[in-house]
Amino acid sequence: MLQIQDLLGADPGRQAKASGCKVEFLGKRYELKPETLPDHLKNSLRRSQVNTYYIVFKFKVTSDTGHTHQVIIRTYPRADLSGPVQVYCDCQDFKFRCAYQMNSSGALFRSSGTDVKLGEAIMTPPKKKGSIVLCKHALAALQELNLNKSIYLG
Ligand SMILES: [Zn+2]
Repeated sequence: MLQIQDLLGADPGRQAKASGCKVEFLGKRYELKPETLPDHLKNSLRRSQVNTYYIVFKFKVTSDTGHTHQVIIRTYPRADLSGPVQVYCDCQDFKFRCAYQMNSSGALFRSSGTDVKLGEAIMTPPKKKGSIVLCKHALAALQELNLNKSIYLG
């Protein structure tokens, strides 16, 4: 499980690139998602699933090159933004360099729509191995959310 703080600190080389991005808040919504319980809890709670609340943020991020992309961030609606985080960006960099690794870490935001857009990239390891964890758009959106969390969660 990755948290927002893990992603923010994961790639110091990208932070300068992210700072050149303009981040616009598009909206948020709440989501109730059934989660499958681990086996030992299934037995003691006598159920296999519980419902968990999430908050889903949408941001529009314009990079210094003028390209605009949409970033989706899902996490627990907690004041300190702790808890598992899932991220998606609709840029090519995210698709081919981040999606596979993010999915393996359980940190890829997935929906039927984003699954179609990412296609095989979700299950195909990138040819070029590197330390890139996030594209600059997603990083910029995470930085903005973290910096102004009291406003976005309020
Ligand atoms: Zn991106």
